[in-house]
Amino acid sequence: MIKNAEKNILLINQARVRALEDLQKILSEKKVLQAEINVLEMRLAETDARIEVADQEKTRVELLEGQLEKLHSELAQKGSDAELHDIQTGVLSDANDTISSLTVELNSIREENASLKNEIESFKTQLNDVKNNDERLVVLEKERLFLESALKDLESKLSISPEAVSELSTLKVECKYLSDKVENLQLLLDKATKQADQAVIVLQQNQDLQREVDKLEATLEEANIYKLSSDKLQKDNELMQQKIKLLENSLEKSDEDINSYVQLYQQSVNEFQDTLNILQKGSKKKTLDEPVEDMPWEFWSQLLLLIDGWALEKKISVDDAKLLREKVWKKDKSISDIYLACKGQNEDEAISSFLGLTSSATSPGLHVIHIAAEMAPVAKVGGLGDVVCGLSKALQKKGHLVEIVLPKYDCMQYDRIGDIRALDVVIESYFDGQLFKNKIWVGTVEGLPVYFIEPHHPDKFFWRGDFYGERDDFRRFSYFSRVALEFLLQAGKKPDIIHCHDWQTAFIAPLYWDVYVPKGLNSARICFTCHNFEYQGTAPASELESCGLDSHHLNRPDRMQDNSAHNRVNSVKGGVVYSNIVTTVSPTYAQEVRTAEGGKGLQSTLSTHSKKFIGVLNGIDTDIWNPATDPFLDVQYNANDLQGKSENKEALRRKLGLSSEDVKRPLVGCITRLVPQKGVHLIRHAIYLTLELGGQFVLLGSSPVPHIQREFEGIANHFKNHDHIRLILKYDESLSHTIYAASDMFIIPSIFEPCGLTQMISMRYGAVPIVRKTGGLNDSVFDIDDDTIPSQFQNGFTFLNADEKGINGALVRAINLYQNDPESWKQLVQKDMNIDFSWDSSAAQYEELYLKSVTRGRATKRA
Ligand code: ADP
Repeated sequence: MIKNAEKNILLINQARVRALEDLQKILSEKKVLQAEINVLEMRLAETDARIEVADQEKTRVELLEGQLEKLHSELAQKGSDAELHDIQTGVLSDANDTISSLTVELNSIREENASLKNEIESFKTQLNDVKNNDERLVVLEKERLFLESALKDLESKLSISPEAVSELSTLKVECKYLSDKVENLQLLLDKATKQADQAVIVLQQNQDLQREVDKLEATLEEANIYKLSSDKLQKDNELMQQKIKLLENSLEKSDEDINSYVQLYQQSVNEFQDTLNILQKGSKKKTLDEPVEDMPWEFWSQLLLLIDGWALEKKISVDDAKLLREKVWKKDKSISDIYLACKGQNEDEAISSFLGLTSSATSPGLHVIHIAAEMAPVAKVGGLGDVVCGLSKALQKKGHLVEIVLPKYDCMQYDRIGDIRALDVVIESYFDGQLFKNKIWVGTVEGLPVYFIEPHHPDKFFWRGDFYGERDDFRRFSYFSRVALEFLLQAGKKPDIIHCHDWQTAFIAPLYWDVYVPKGLNSARICFTCHNFEYQGTAPASELESCGLDSHHLNRPDRMQDNSAHNRVNSVKGGVVYSNIVTTVSPTYAQEVRTAEGGKGLQSTLSTHSKKFIGVLNGIDTDIWNPATDPFLDVQYNANDLQGKSENKEALRRKLGLSSEDVKRPLVGCITRLVPQKGVHLIRHAIYLTLELGGQFVLLGSSPVPHIQREFEGIANHFKNHDHIRLILKYDESLSHTIYAASDMFIIPSIFEPCGLTQMISMRYGAVPIVRKTGGLNDSVFDIDDDTIPSQFQNGFTFLNADEKGINGALVRAINLYQNDPESWKQLVQKDMNIDFSWDSSAAQYEELYLKSVTRGRATKRA
């Protein structure tokens, strides 16, 4: 602070000196100007005097001129006598002299007068200047006054050190005095610092003490709390006592109830016994279904008591108890088996086993409804269509009631739908704040009942000539999901399972729980299958509102919010979060998507929901994909008759204009969507490599990606008339069958592959797969040279790295075996054709998942 004061004084002093200098300057300027003004005023007075003299002279000249005039006229009157003439001449010459001298004088005066006038003018201007100077002087004076007042102000500010302000001249002295003071203060400060250091030590000691005090206080507080809590405990105890009393009362009551139930039960048993006796005596025809005669009565009684106990404890419903009791009465073998099997199980497991019995007792199977965007063969873009059809057929074969709900696309294969007709009903469904009408069509596809929904919405959602790839796909499929559930509600359906697929119908899961359960459609468990995590269906959160979902409620990290864009919602994430069962299409892919690389942003969501998430390997529809019955083939064939396969190869070569010269030349097939996932650069490389290795290559594929489509069009064009290469860039179902049948090998170099069906189809048709080890390919193709795999499972060629070197190794090995060991090749082909890739085992896994979930759902409802 003292240093700051010194600094301020120095600054003020400097300002003061500057102000004084300015004032001095102004005063000296003022003096100079004043002197100038004085001189000018004197000269002005002089000039005024001279002007006065000049004026007097002028009057005198005018007087003389008057006299001269007068003399001239008198002279003219008196005539011309000599004397007069002389006088006249004398006077005249005098007068003339006088006149001329006067004229000269007058002229000089006039000149002088004129110069004086000029001088006066210039003086006047000077005077004006002087006046201006005066004004400047006034300004300067004002400035001086201002400076003086500023100075005074500064001086007054200096009053913190009053001695310094009183006299500027003494400022220095005071400064010195101040610095002395500063020094003193410094000394004092040093002293104070030392004292402060000591104080700090004391403070620390104090703080230690304070801590001790705090500790003591805390202990005190604890003691208080303890005291309080013991008070509370006391109160709680009292409450508990009351509660225990209440419980005891209700226990007593329930004991009474139980007793009355037991009595009732005893009565029933007695009645039953009586009836049984009567029945046994009365009629041999009325024997019981599959009675288990060898079990003593005690066994059945224990069983009945067990069931009734669960019913009373509300662990099973009244209806389920009734069904189980009936089974006991009938001495049904299934219930005695379950009872015996349950020994040693915990109660929950036992209940769930018994309930499995009631679900099969109430209906022959489950009621499963698939809601999807695709179904082969009527609306198929890729594997999803195959799965919906294949799984549904397999479940149907297992005795379940399976129905499918699809959009009614304009571009469907209507010739593959049996008995299609529109129902005489209109379903009104909510969208964008209003109700829209929808027509419902029914028909059979591959023997399955299918409902086709035709929206009467101005946007003509499914009237676009294509299945996907529309700008408003999010709206199209959220609309469809909503109307599909509305249809189930209005049709009064009570499915056990609603199975939705991929992002297009993943909306079903949140719509079901948030909108339709409250409306009464509440019988189902939701199963969601993601066939490819690459496609997740995201959109700005607000777009969810259109189908009636609450975007504020759902746009949260633990709900539908996209994991990488927080203002967007993610349909697949909604499916994962809101479904009871979540599956993907192979066990390896289920592992891959749990990683950052495979999960495409959803890995954390899948980890959170890992308990309900499982990979089930797809199967193929072995009715459709059967070379022994395939109507698209020129010649049907089977594993024991491979001649037919050669004939199909020959037929395709002819059809595509490929050379048939060398029968032994292997034909490599590839049928795929041409998208980056499928390893398009490796497919391109395989075309050239096959040619190099002496093979033929046929590609059937189309691409939604323009630059890939263009690139392959270029290659197709290049090999247009080639003997050994053909690229057909379109979707062609019947051609695909003939390519599977004609191919010796089938190449699938995918970067990732959730399941992949083409490797299974190709094996079924005797085309040996060459695949990259990823996803479902890794679960279904096992290398013939991999010693870690039992030989009975070895069925193809695999490679790990997604590069040319990787694919080279596998393709070279395959062509070598084909060309150099035909017998081994034949055996491999036959082995592949005999592998069971049907849906049977995969459908059984789904069946188990469904059943477990349904049982769990029932148990939850009861609880
Ligand atoms: P994805 O579902 O990723 O397309 P999948 O291997 O699971 O791959 O399923 C592909 C299905 O689509 C197979 O049934 C295959 O025969 C068929 N497919 C792919 N491309 C074509 C095409 N251009 N023409 C006919 N069928 C095709």
